[in-house]
Amino acid sequence: MTDRKVRVRFAPSPTGPLHIGGVRTALYNYLFARQHGGELVFRIEDTDSSRFVPGAEEYIIESFRWLGIRFDEGVGIGGPHGPYRQSERRDIYRRYVERLLDEGKAYVAFDTPEELNARRAAEANFQYDATTRGSMRNSLTMPADEVRRRIDAGEQYVVRFKVEPGEDVHVDDIIRGDVKINSSVLDDKVLYKSADDLPTYHLANIVDDHLMEITHVIRGEEWLPSAPLHVLLYRAFGWQDTMPRFAHLPLLLKPDGKGKLSKRDGDRLGFPVFPLEWHDPKTGDVSPGYRESGYLPEAVVNFLALLGWNPGTEQELLSMDDLVRLFDLAKCSKAGARFDYVKGLWFNKEYILMTDNARLAPELDRILRQNGIEEPIGRVEAVVGMMKMKKINFIRELWPLCDFFFRAPETYSTDDKFVRKNWKEGTADEMRRLAALLAGLDRFDVESQRAAVDAWAEEQGVRPWNAWRVCLVGTGKGPDMYELAAFLGREESLARMQRAIDILG
Ligand code: GLU
Repeated sequence: MTDRKVRVRFAPSPTGPLHIGGVRTALYNYLFARQHGGELVFRIEDTDSSRFVPGAEEYIIESFRWLGIRFDEGVGIGGPHGPYRQSERRDIYRRYVERLLDEGKAYVAFDTPEELNARRAAEANFQYDATTRGSMRNSLTMPADEVRRRIDAGEQYVVRFKVEPGEDVHVDDIIRGDVKINSSVLDDKVLYKSADDLPTYHLANIVDDHLMEITHVIRGEEWLPSAPLHVLLYRAFGWQDTMPRFAHLPLLLKPDGKGKLSKRDGDRLGFPVFPLEWHDPKTGDVSPGYRESGYLPEAVVNFLALLGWNPGTEQELLSMDDLVRLFDLAKCSKAGARFDYVKGLWFNKEYILMTDNARLAPELDRILRQNGIEEPIGRVEAVVGMMKMKKINFIRELWPLCDFFFRAPETYSTDDKFVRKNWKEGTADEMRRLAALLAGLDRFDVESQRAAVDAWAEEQGVRPWNAWRVCLVGTGKGPDMYELAAFLGREESLARMQRAIDILG
């Protein structure tokens, strides 16, 4: 297996929106594949039709498109190992179930759910295994012709894996090392159900990983208990030489307190646990998503990458390329990773500062339009550039900070502390003289204004900037005055100055 090309997969079940922990799993698979020049497969594990949720598959695909996590083959892409949706691979699984039956490694069982429940109620810790299978209704306890007759008559059955007891099963996990469990504690897992002619997760997962030539299974910790059974299945098929290596990732934990991160934590503390907004088709409930909440995908990727792994240095801001270079699966922690959503805000703030204004402007533009303001996008972009260093976590926080760029102050009032402090006797007159100076400039760009006004202020011994800010903004916020005035243009600047002078006197 050493010289096999690295192939990993992300294999969600379309049972609802993708949880943020699933996004991290996919991201780690992506980083691992890219750093090894390998391939990432996108497979849909939809063999449990009772849990199928319409729209979930599309949601998952759109999430990864947004995040910049690309798959090499799979659902929606194609490739040489298709189909990649398990519900379209029934014939394949049936062949492998037959094989285990023929070789005596699995058996047919007719016990109804009612019978199983009765046994469970009668016996504490009942488990379908080597100690009990001899007393159940299955092909090990029935004559072969009766089994045949029942199947031909259309009686429902399942196929169970025959786990041999008393053996230590080893799972060689890249993160956790040698995980050992005795096969006696395992039950004879159901591999196939005649009722829907579909395999269960375990069989489909193993068969597909084998046929799709998967070399590494990187998945959440919640799958670790299934791994010993998977090892036994690989062996039963004689595939132990190409068995993938396992890596079970640490859990994501609540931001506060104990236990694993849940949707309720997000609702309670006010952060999304899904990449995109999710509209539940059954209940109509809408759950917030990182995208709609105003996060940049690069920030989400960076934040998630560091939940359970770090490069061993102080560096926290890491691009996708950095992550591909530095990521080390073997250095992931075993211990759960606290979901520090406040850190997520910090990442977004840092990425806003690093991101092109042209990419950020459409979001502010959307908010402007909601407020009835239509501006050329280039001007919106200029405002983002002037204002984003105000340490905002989200672009939407710019609107209350920058409304004055787009509309003149409605009132000028000394109720405002900044106005009271900076509008004194004689200020109106000083502003009249400044207005006259500005009106006479040849050019109204930042540098021309700066040169003329600075010189004039020096010569007159005045400091006009705060009062000028009162005129243009109406209060004590906003960027550099020359940048603001240049943005507004001469006509608008002078109009605002005149209005402030008229009102404040
Ligand atoms: N279908 C499983 C899930 O929904 C995949 C588990 C695995 O990666 O083996 O997470």
